[in-house]
Amino acid sequence: MKQLQQTLRQIDGESYKGYKQIAGQYSFQQHQLLIDYVQGDPFAAPSKIRIKVPHRNRNIKTEWVQNRNRKIYAEDVLARYVAKAIAKQNSDVKGSGKSGMIAIDGPGQEILERTAVELTTEDITVCLSVGLPANGRRINGKQAENLFFQAVPEVINQSVFSITDQTIDETIQLADQHEAIQEAMEANGWISFVADGSILPRQSGISERPMKNAIAFESPEANRVTVDIPHRQEPLTGMALHKGIILIVGGGYHGKSTLLNAIERGVYPHVKGDGREYVLTDPNAVKVRAEDGRQVSHVNISPFIKNLPHGADTTKFSTENASGSTSQAANVVEALEAGAGTLLIDEDTSATNFMIRDERMQELVVKEKEPITPFIDKVKQMKQELDVSTVLVMGGSGDYFDAADEVIMLDQYLPFNVTARAKEIAAKHPYHREVETDASFGQVPKRAFLQGSLQTQQGKKSKVQAKGRATIVMGRTDISLHYVEQLVDASQTRMIADIIHHMEKNGWLKLEEPVHALLDKIENAFNDKGIAVFAPFKNQHPGDLARPRRFEIAAALNRMRTAKVKDLS
Ligand code: ADP
Ligand code: MG
Repeated sequence: MKQLQQTLRQIDGESYKGYKQIAGQYSFQQHQLLIDYVQGDPFAAPSKIRIKVPHRNRNIKTEWVQNRNRKIYAEDVLARYVAKAIAKQNSDVKGSGKSGMIAIDGPGQEILERTAVELTTEDITVCLSVGLPANGRRINGKQAENLFFQAVPEVINQSVFSITDQTIDETIQLADQHEAIQEAMEANGWISFVADGSILPRQSGISERPMKNAIAFESPEANRVTVDIPHRQEPLTGMALHKGIILIVGGGYHGKSTLLNAIERGVYPHVKGDGREYVLTDPNAVKVRAEDGRQVSHVNISPFIKNLPHGADTTKFSTENASGSTSQAANVVEALEAGAGTLLIDEDTSATNFMIRDERMQELVVKEKEPITPFIDKVKQMKQELDVSTVLVMGGSGDYFDAADEVIMLDQYLPFNVTARAKEIAAKHPYHREVETDASFGQVPKRAFLQGSLQTQQGKKSKVQAKGRATIVMGRTDISLHYVEQLVDASQTRMIADIIHHMEKNGWLKLEEPVHALLDKIENAFNDKGIAVFAPFKNQHPGDLARPRRFEIAAALNRMRTAKVKDLS
């Protein structure tokens, strides 16, 4: 600590590069300061530091890290507290560029496994970015002293040393509860659970905070289940959706998409107070939608689309500019290829001709002239042959009544089970449309991406970099993830960029493994070596990463404009 102080006083007023010499480790009274990386310029990407608080200064209960799940939740709540402390503090560290800034990669509404905080029985490590203070382009040693000796310790004081054991205990309890719900879901064959009292709508289209004064969720009687969960007196009640084909209907603006959105986000746990903290979904559920314009590389979409004009082969379909229906077909079969167990589909974001095709249209445009086999003729085959469930929002057509195992109707934001009534209506008005599918679903794609797909060169440099949540710049092309709706955090996108970079450097794709096996391998590496395993710089903290699911990793690979694919089917 003294040494750092001395150095800062010595280099005060020197050229900014002089900061490089402060990299290293320093002991403070309550914590260790590790300066991992020093920025080259006050306007460049900020410096990276770690604060390590040993357990003798801040008690750490072993039960907080007793299992992986608890550890993730405990780290999450610590990161939240640090983020809050940073937001609250009005540090007076001044200067040019990023001088004095302090940042942590704080979580949103979801609880994700992330690298911002690491908790072990020994210590709590907080990864921060800081802007080293400058006057113009010269070192401001005085302000740097303020930063390291006041502002940063104050943030740690207001978070790591202020958060109560009870707050962490409660987070751990939520972890246990979520685990118990997931276990009940698996044991009973539920693909989603939505607790009574949940608040599903969000404040606005740009805020993930819960809506105020919303109508709380109440399960339909027929779907209500009771789950015993730990750390709670009374059991939890709510709606269970069983494996199968679930149709969500109801008038426009009655809350259908809101329910589906909550279900699709339920693949991740949410924090207390979110309103969706007891909404959980099959972790292998994948939202599929139309996404015209996307790249498709050698995908067998023939279960849905055959005989395109000009004879394009749809068993190995490639395009740089997919249509609504072909993009949605590709999204479905790629999800199956990656191992999806449930598909989530909303009419609002679907291609109509992919979803339905009625009798009149069948008569006017004869089968030979229509390349598309609509989803309605495939949904049962997916259930029966592939054990893949579907939750589908469809307010505009009753054609799915026959295929549905359950029909849930939303009426003024409240759900009712109308399965019996829908079946009655289906019997009364049988449809005369022809079922168009072949005898079986068809081949799920089995492909390998080739090493040459990873075109990371940009001039002389290799570059793979996330730009926000929805874009990865890879070499000279962009991977667009705007319509990959279950990619929820820019830190997940950064992680995917790191994975691509790692695979390129280490020749992972030379093995030509099928996508499914490649995803298994990535997940195993996360589980065995921690989620920082793919971070490029071993000598600095990778404090801004969060774990993506296999489906979102696959989504990025599938959207590479430079993909080269070998068919293994
Ligand atoms: P649909 O898909 O049936 O047309 P949406 O799910 O888009 O309807 O919901 C329509 C509007 O109602 C949205 O603005 C949404 O935020 C709001 N909303 C949804 N659920 C609730 C609720 N439980 N309480 C209050 N408002 C809600
Ligand atoms: Mg809608």
